[in-house]
Amino acid sequence: MDRPSDRVIVIGAGPVGLCLSLALSQQGIPVCLIEALGDHNFLEQVPRAGTNHPATLELFERIGLYDKLEPRGIIAPLFHYWDRHESKLVAEFDHAHLKDDTRFPYVLQCERIKIVEEALKLVKAHPGIELRLSTEFTAFSQTADGVTVQVRNPAGDSEAIAGSYLVSAEGARSIVRKDLDIEFEGFTYPDRTLNIEVAYDFRQHGYTERNYISDPDEWSNLFHWKGPPDRWRVHFPTAPDADETALTQPDALQARLQRFLPIGKGFNIVGSNLYVVHQRVAKKFRAGRAILAGDSAHVNSPIGAMGMNSGIHDAFNLAEKLVSILRGEADADILDRYERQRRHVALQHTQAQTMRNKRLLTEKDPAVRRKNHDELRRTAEDPKLARAFLLRSSLIESLREAEQIA
Ligand SMILES: Cc1cc2nc3c(=O)[nH]c(=O)nc-3n(C[C@H](O)[C@H](O)[C@H](O)COP(=O)(O)OP(=O)(O)OC[C@H]3O[C@@H](n4cnc5c(N)ncnc54)[C@H](O)[C@@H]3O)c2cc1C
Repeated sequence: MDRPSDRVIVIGAGPVGLCLSLALSQQGIPVCLIEALGDHNFLEQVPRAGTNHPATLELFERIGLYDKLEPRGIIAPLFHYWDRHESKLVAEFDHAHLKDDTRFPYVLQCERIKIVEEALKLVKAHPGIELRLSTEFTAFSQTADGVTVQVRNPAGDSEAIAGSYLVSAEGARSIVRKDLDIEFEGFTYPDRTLNIEVAYDFRQHGYTERNYISDPDEWSNLFHWKGPPDRWRVHFPTAPDADETALTQPDALQARLQRFLPIGKGFNIVGSNLYVVHQRVAKKFRAGRAILAGDSAHVNSPIGAMGMNSGIHDAFNLAEKLVSILRGEADADILDRYERQRRHVALQHTQAQTMRNKRLLTEKDPAVRRKNHDELRRTAEDPKLARAFLLRSSLIESLREAEQIA
C-alpha cells in the first residue's frame, strides 16, 4: 500500500481536494496533494462559497473538521425569502424541521477561505499525505496500471509523480478535463454578479443570517459572516455590457447599497468583486484512472449555496470507492457508479435547483411572482411541506436519491 505507485494523486487543495485527501488518508490510503498556491499566498483567495448545509457538516465531522469550523462560523437555523418590490418578508424557513433527519438542523455560515485554512492544517498534520504546495500540475498520462503526472515544482523544475489514480479537484478550469477532451456542457449567464462585503448589521432591519431577495429589476442575496469585524455579503446582478471599473467604484457601490437599504449614513464597505456565473456539467466524470470532482466536474450559480457543498459530497462518495478498490475489496468498475450518482445529482439537483432559484428571484410577471410567493409562504407554514422543501434545499434528498442509483 505504501509504494509511491499506490498513492492517489489529488490536484488542487480547494475544499474538495482537501476533504478528499483527508477522507482517503484517514482510511490508510496514501495521498499526494498538489497545489499551485504556496504558504505565502494560500489565504489570498477571493471570497467565494460560505454556506455549509447539514449533510456537509456531517461529512466535516467525519474527518475532524467540523469542530475546527464551528467556532469560526455562524450557526444559522433560519433563512428568508424577501420581496424587495413590496419591502416585505415572504417566508421564513426553519431547519428545525430537519431535526429527525440530521444531527445538524442548521447551516453553518463559514467561508471557503476558513474551510481551506483549517483543512490544510489537518492535512499538514497527517503523515499519510504528501503535500506539495507551490507546485503546478501541467500534464498527465495513464496506463492500465497507473498514472503519471507532470508538475512544475517550487524550484521551477519539471518533475514526474506516479500514482494509482488521479483526481482532478483543480476547479472549473481543470486541465485534466480539457486534456481528456471531456465536454463541459451547459451555458454561461450573460450578466455578472456583483458581490459587495459590508460591515453593517442588517438584522436590525428584520433580516436573518441568509436572505434571498426577489425583485423584477434587481434581485439580491444577503449573507452574514463572522468577523471580527462581522461582515455581510450582498449580491446584485449587473448589466451584461456594464464596465467593470465603473461598477466597482466606491461611489457606485455605495449608491447601490443605499438604493437597496437607505440607512441615512454611509455603509462601511470592506470589499467587492465581480464574478461570472456558469451552469455546466462535464459529460463524463471519469476516463480510466483519471476522475473529476467538484468544480472540475460541475459549476453552477451560487444562488442556493450548492456548488461547494455538492463538490464536497463528490469527494466523500469518491473516497469511499477508491478505498474499497485500493484495499482490493471492489472492482474499479464501481467508479462508474460514482459518475452515475454524482452526475445525476449535478444535473437533477444542483443545476435544476439553482436555475429554479434564479428564476424565482428574477421573475418579472406580477401574477407569477404573486403565485410563487404564495406557494413559498404556504410551504414554510406547513411543517410537512417545509420539511420536504428543506430536505431538497439542504441537499439531503440528493444524497438519499444517489444511494438508490445502482
Ligand atoms: C462568488 C461565489 C460564491 C459562491 N458561494 C457558494 C456558496 O455559498 N455555497 C457553495 O456551495 N458554493 C458556492 N460557490 C462555489 C464554490 O466556491 C465552488 O464550488 C468551490 O470552491 C469548488 O471547490 P473545488 O475544491 O472544486 O475547487 P476550487 O475551490 O476552485 O479549488 C481548486 C484548487 O485547485 C488549485 N489549482 C488549480 N489549478 C491547479 C494546477 N494546475 N496545479 C495545482 N493546483 C491547481 C487552485 O489553486 C485551488 O486551490 C461560490 C462561488 C463563487 C464564485
